[in-house]
Amino acid sequence: MAYGITQLGYMGFEVKHLEAWERFSTQVLGLGISEREADGSLRLRLDSYKQRLFIREGALNDVSVFGWEVADEAALAEVSARLAARGVTLTPGSAEEAAYRNVQGLVKLEDPSGNPLELYFGAERHPEPFVSSVVQGGFVAEEQGLGHCVISARDKAEATDFYCELLGFRLSDHIRCTFHGHAVDLSFFHANARHHSLAFGGPQRKRIHHFMLEARHMDEVGLCFDRSLNAGVPIMQTLGRHPNDRMFSFYAKTPSGFQFEFGWGGRAVDDATWEPTEYQCISEWGHHPPMVFQPKPEAQR
Ligand code: FE
Repeated sequence: MAYGITQLGYMGFEVKHLEAWERFSTQVLGLGISEREADGSLRLRLDSYKQRLFIREGALNDVSVFGWEVADEAALAEVSARLAARGVTLTPGSAEEAAYRNVQGLVKLEDPSGNPLELYFGAERHPEPFVSSVVQGGFVAEEQGLGHCVISARDKAEATDFYCELLGFRLSDHIRCTFHGHAVDLSFFHANARHHSLAFGGPQRKRIHHFMLEARHMDEVGLCFDRSLNAGVPIMQTLGRHPNDRMFSFYAKTPSGFQFEFGWGGRAVDDATWEPTEYQCISEWGHHPPMVFQPKPEAQR
């Protein structure tokens, strides 16, 4: 049995502009609508899981929940006991909350930075395979989870202790460098073969810096880049490749201001042989903020 978390199972977003999010998530990201409530709330899918993203309208304009999967009821009891022993307050999810998420059981808690988490088991699968008319090759997900998230952490040592010692994440590697004048000190953690399901470097303005979705085919990254340009989605980092997870990707802004990364080609981690290391650059090439390359007015040349 896995020690703790096995994957990033779902994320909830509370967004100011629900209609913009519906267009963005379906037409730019290529996700499918699994359920739509009377108030317009959406549950979106990208693989066999019934839903991977929950989006509802509200003032927060940020992540409303990070849903982390554990293997089964016994694993949930085990990780809950470990958290409780360290003084973490756990609130059992109601039957209604479990039904909305299509899971068998969940507990709710906060990480040391105040990020709202849910630990759950028994996610239901959709009877029909997911086919996106936009991302026709589909996504790398299933047992690797929906993707990864880079979260806000008020204190790196405290967050590392919480996620590794209590939730069972394993260190993948670090990136320490300067990026356009800013000191970067990022740590990456895995819960399955995906190089990282979680990363953090310090406090962020919102609960996440970005979440990442991984396509099965390289061309899907270029196609999503084109869809972003055509839809007026602000590109934040151009196409590039990271040295640690080898992801070929770009970054752009969601309608709520935090970013998404759309990638391909992430490497797999095998715990039996993996040695954490440290990299001195965020990217081997690319991932440049395009605003840096705006042509300067004649007078400044
Ligand atoms: Fe990323």
